[in-house]
Amino acid sequence: MRVAVLGAGLAGTMTAYELFRDGHEPIVIDRRSQPASETSYGNAGMIAPGHAFSWASPAALKTLIRSIGRNDTALRFKLQKDPHFWKWALRFVRNCTTARANYNTARKVGLCLYSQKQLHRVVEETGVAYGAASGGAMYLHRTEAALEKADQNAQIMRRLGVEVRKLDPLQAAQIDQVYLPVQDRFAGALYVPGDESGDARMFTRSIATWLIERGVAFRLNETIDRIEADGGRIARVVTDQGEVKADAYVLALGCYAATMGRTIGLNLPIYPVKGYSVTIPVAGRNNPPRLSGVDEHNLFAFANYGEHVRLTAIAEFAGYDWSHKPSDFTGLLKAAQELFPDAGDYAEPEYWAGLRPMTPSALPIFGKAKFDNLWVNAGHGHMGWTWACGSGRIAADLIAGRKPEHDVSTMLYVG
Ligand SMILES: Cc1cc2nc3c(=O)[nH]c(=O)nc-3n(C[C@H](O)[C@H](O)[C@H](O)COP(=O)(O)OP(=O)(O)OC[C@H]3O[C@@H](n4cnc5c(N)ncnc54)[C@H](O)[C@@H]3O)c2cc1C
Repeated sequence: MRVAVLGAGLAGTMTAYELFRDGHEPIVIDRRSQPASETSYGNAGMIAPGHAFSWASPAALKTLIRSIGRNDTALRFKLQKDPHFWKWALRFVRNCTTARANYNTARKVGLCLYSQKQLHRVVEETGVAYGAASGGAMYLHRTEAALEKADQNAQIMRRLGVEVRKLDPLQAAQIDQVYLPVQDRFAGALYVPGDESGDARMFTRSIATWLIERGVAFRLNETIDRIEADGGRIARVVTDQGEVKADAYVLALGCYAATMGRTIGLNLPIYPVKGYSVTIPVAGRNNPPRLSGVDEHNLFAFANYGEHVRLTAIAEFAGYDWSHKPSDFTGLLKAAQELFPDAGDYAEPEYWAGLRPMTPSALPIFGKAKFDNLWVNAGHGHMGWTWACGSGRIAADLIAGRKPEHDVSTMLYVG
């Protein structure tokens, strides 16, 4: 079957991979000159079931209210005119109960564990390199009280099969020596041995190259202008370079799945939540963090890609605005330098901002959408790297009419 995959980010590329593996003919279309040039370009790199807590929770609601109009918090919220934002926000608020948060966390963790297995399979099948670092992730807390509370909250993770260990600073330093000289700067950590990290952009581009070498078409530098339907089926995709006809179509446009989807009557509750990352060269510095993790006090994530260290922070509701300026990174860099003074050359930062394609529950959307031959793989929010390989497999299974090995019955498109 000829399948047009719209979007060459993590979601689209991994869908194409699994379709190819199943013997189909995927054709991938993306407006950028290279795969993974939008949200999949500069993410934190964590492949992390330990980081899969529900974003919507009673605590998140309070934080959201406190952040209105402020520009110095990890969560930033500018009042928006966009009615789609308000619809999204209402649904997010409905997810902010304890019961809903626990339910969403369980579904997120389940998808993480399944996806990690699929990632390992894909790496075995292709041999791609992506700056992988296994051996766990550290979730650091600055006070005893915060550590204690986090340890209690981690019970849900433990019940779901994720190993979480509570460590004091010395124990953390025995696992990752970056903490030896800064043991006085944090109270302890939750260590999740099964978490991993890697460069999502390198991974996506390596998989795309692997596919291109095997004859899969990646139509890059080609912007999709519209999707045309004929009755109950998608007839063609019209681009700035002509049209593409296929037996089936997969919407994997990240945040733009929502805007493009609306033009054909789809209702995809995906809204952009902007995040910022800064990448610095290790440049001979001798003490970068070996393992990825999160400073839970300052809410920034970190990962080591060998020659570079990436630092990531902030969840900002700013619509479809990709802009950034050096002052956006001041707080992040200050907090990172306190914890990791010798991680790399802070004078050589590469700044970036990207839009997380968030759904109100923070779970992705799969399945057939309104038309007989249109499928969705979008809305992966803050976990699209962790979920990429599982989601690609799930999308391919659904397109083939197979029941996915991982149950996604509650993540299917609802019109
Ligand atoms: C700051 C930050 C940190 C993150 N950290 C992590 C992390 O540590 N771990 C994790 O698991 N996830 C993380 N994520 C989330 C992850 O990066 C995303 O979920 C994932 O990249 C989404 O992939 P995607 O393929 O859906 O979207 P994208 O990568 O945005 O891909 C969509 C593609 O569609 C193309 N496109 C859009 N419109 C058109 C059009 N009209 N015509 C043609 N092409 C079009 C774009 O060019 C793009 O390539 C983070 C995200 C951010 C922003």
